[in-house]
Amino acid sequence: MAKIALEHIKHSYSTQLSGPQEWALKEVDTVWADGGAYALLGPSGCGKTTLLNIISGLIIPSQGRVLFDDSDVTSTPTIDRHIAQVFQFPVVYDTMTVYDNLAFPLRNRGVAEDKISARVREIARMLELEGLLHRRASGLTADGKQKISLGRGLVRENVNVIMFDEPLTVIDPHLKWLLRSKLKELHQQVGATMIYVTHDQTEALTFADWVVVMYDGTVVQIGTPVELFEHPQHTFVGHFIGSPGMNVLPCEVSDGTVRLFGNKIDTASSLLPDPDKGTIEIGVRPEFVRFDAEGFLVEIIKVDDLGRYQIVEARHEDHTIKMIAGEDVEIPSESPRITFDPHNTRLYADGWVVD
Ligand code: ATP
Repeated sequence: MAKIALEHIKHSYSTQLSGPQEWALKEVDTVWADGGAYALLGPSGCGKTTLLNIISGLIIPSQGRVLFDDSDVTSTPTIDRHIAQVFQFPVVYDTMTVYDNLAFPLRNRGVAEDKISARVREIARMLELEGLLHRRASGLTADGKQKISLGRGLVRENVNVIMFDEPLTVIDPHLKWLLRSKLKELHQQVGATMIYVTHDQTEALTFADWVVVMYDGTVVQIGTPVELFEHPQHTFVGHFIGSPGMNVLPCEVSDGTVRLFGNKIDTASSLLPDPDKGTIEIGVRPEFVRFDAEGFLVEIIKVDDLGRYQIVEARHEDHTIKMIAGEDVEIPSESPRITFDPHNTRLYADGWVVD
């Protein structure tokens, strides 16, 4: 297990740099704790795989350093980094038994057979594969095979980090939640530093103690699921996490007041941004929007009744505002007006929270 420090990492796949768009990773500077469960979350193309490959040693970054427990491994080959990886598609030898598949990474490293047997049985127990140990892998379902891949990732002791790259892609939706919670449980049992790459917020939030949210080649926020929900540092985090995501609306700041659609509003931000510098917006999650006769007028576009709550889509001029209303909330049929909870309404300047 290791603490991982990424010091001012930048990476470009091109050797000819002509502009900022050439950077696949623009700047990543962060430390991940020994034994932590991290999820790397972001949309396609934001740089997740590039960062993972830099940690595993498949890519040497154009700039910056990678440290495992304070020792510089930036140019250390993958094999010497002592990491385990689980990929999107199961990496399983079909002709071998489940036991031999799990034993393979240990046999490769010359571990004694009695130790292998104990460790394989321990991992098989964790993954509920004990009854299948002597079956050939070829007869297993996709999720059974992916469990073996997970087991192969977990079986070596003393690895610095175990990395999972979208490991549930091939798993049936109804089995995904089973493996997801199993992985969380395994982290608690194994205690290794784990990095889980995904673009699925549910997977990230279920698995990780800390979610690393990436956007456009940078890490925009590292936080617990609760922090990401309650204090999004960037409008992207607010929008990407949550269902529906945070409402982001343009506003004006003048004479020490914030105005939204011409109405003065209160926010949780104690500072006001310089109105001449960049785009200023407010962010408020649908959970903190409510009907209020003192609020501003909206038109109701759609109401989705999800049983325990309703998702209301409202519009003011060209702007869509989503709200989550309790099942017992009556949707006003005439002149509906809404307000935002000021404690959960924040100002953002050029996407970044003003704090
Ligand atoms: P996905 O979820 O689709 O795998 P990602 O978040 O992992 O995306 P990366 O694969 O790291 O993103 O890609 C980051 C950027 O680098 C993208 O713009 C991508 O087109 C570019 N890129 C990735 N691999 C290469 C490569 N081998 N050569 C050139 N550009 C690349």
